[in-house]
Amino acid sequence: MKKALPEYDFQPATLKVLEDSPKKLFINNEWVAAQSGETFETLNPATGAPLAAAALAGAADVDAAVAAAQAAFPAWGSSIAAERAEKLFKLADLIDQHADMLAELETLDNGKPIRVARRGDLPYVTKHLRYQAGWADKIEGSTVPVTFPNQFVYTRREPLGVVAAIIPWNFPLLMAIWKLGPALAAGNTLILKPAEQTPLSALYLADLIREAGFPPGVVNILTGPGEPTGAALAAHPGIAKVAFTGSTAVGAKIMAAAAASNLKRVSLELGGKSPNVIFADADMASAVRGAQWAVFSTAGQECVAGTRLFVERAAYDQVVDGLKQNVEKMVVDHGFAEKVHVGPLISQAQMERVQGYIDQGQQAGAEIVAGGGRVGEQGYFLQPTIFAYQDDTLKLVQEEIFGPVVAVTAFDSEDELIARANDTQYGLAAGVWTRDVGKAHRYAHAVQAGTVWINGYGMIDPAAPFGGYKMSGFGREMGKEAIDLYTQVKTVWVNTQ
Ligand code: NAP
Ligand code: MG
Repeated sequence: MKKALPEYDFQPATLKVLEDSPKKLFINNEWVAAQSGETFETLNPATGAPLAAAALAGAADVDAAVAAAQAAFPAWGSSIAAERAEKLFKLADLIDQHADMLAELETLDNGKPIRVARRGDLPYVTKHLRYQAGWADKIEGSTVPVTFPNQFVYTRREPLGVVAAIIPWNFPLLMAIWKLGPALAAGNTLILKPAEQTPLSALYLADLIREAGFPPGVVNILTGPGEPTGAALAAHPGIAKVAFTGSTAVGAKIMAAAAASNLKRVSLELGGKSPNVIFADADMASAVRGAQWAVFSTAGQECVAGTRLFVERAAYDQVVDGLKQNVEKMVVDHGFAEKVHVGPLISQAQMERVQGYIDQGQQAGAEIVAGGGRVGEQGYFLQPTIFAYQDDTLKLVQEEIFGPVVAVTAFDSEDELIARANDTQYGLAAGVWTRDVGKAHRYAHAVQAGTVWINGYGMIDPAAPFGGYKMSGFGREMGKEAIDLYTQVKTVWVNTQ
């Protein structure tokens, strides 16, 4: 198994996680085999070789996890809020203690540079967890001045019940915590399904959850693919809510399954095709560097990636030249390499999909300015790729690629810009670079996106609401809005006569 690993001074605990494979499912604070006995392999995207095996949860395992989470809910949901917070803070401390190892697991399973996993993913995981833990004892109702005499009316914000969190592979642990934090703080119990490509950090988290003192059944972790594991969760009548991050196509399936089963609540964080805009009056060095990292960090596998770059015509040549120069210096390599900017894509299928968009874009008349090809023959590496285009109807411009590909175009007026920037089914994020404060805010207000960055790109914070417009989904994670996603309001009438 170790032949799949690069030369690197791994934590012994990381290697042990891999050797202990096949793992089991985490239900009721215990490790149990899938009832079918089935397992599946998770691969190292830098080599294509298997890293470890995980249990494959089927419908019977989903039933068992739901039963455990339902049994745990009455006590957890009515527990003292400060005590829930304490356990979440304890979990954050444990994650900090195990951060080096968790970062290594993220890099092995996902492929991202270890520097990014260490300085990005892991610190964000605990920042988010602590922020949401802080909300647990601040979830308040209100008193309501009704028109009836002698009636005292108040509201309570109550948890929903069993929440299923279904997450993608690009930020495995961070996505898990975005959902786990507010769901548990508000008093729900949870079933987490990590992406089949990246189960390892979630499985490791299970032991930390037990150590933090969460009662059995409060958190259950089921590994397995979308079908059958995710689909069985979305269709289960015992689940009160599905919190989903992933593709728009799967989001639609989850809504349909929710509607057909029990009208469970659904919140969706979906794909994007985010417009990033550079006006000619921008600080060019920052704008060009910003546009570069807006799309090429995480090898373009970020929902907020600034994949459509609009440049005011007067600055177009300068931006395209600058971007090309920067991009051609980016090092594509495995995540443990000494110097690496762009890691592998997550899978063979994803690499082929992205290559398909590149080929199709070229055939349709878009011009490749940089990149366009595979790197090496092992693993799933692609060059950072820049396309220049004019035709907004190109597939390359309309569809989410989820790879290291940016499409650059020139614009002449603000009206044209807004019309074209909004000409997509998506609405997750947007960026704008200009020194003109009025222009920046005009754009920020007119663009259809859940988040807009002015003279920056990609910042996410536990206190700042985050989510989509249009087919990028609905519901806002982060901030107090995340708590609203995991609670429901009860109104109580008291006759005071
Ligand atoms: P995906 O295929 O939609 O998968 C997301 C999760 O859903 C995975 O755990 C997946 O399981 C599961 N799933 C697949 N089919 C399912 C079904 N029929 N019922 C229930 N669950 C099912 O997306 P992905 O390929 O992992 O991630 C890439 C996509 O996610 C991109 O479109 C990206 O924009 C989006 N994304 C959005 C955000 C955001 O915050 N808005 C963040 C990250 C990614 P398996 O993969 O294990 O089969
Ligand atoms: Mg993997």
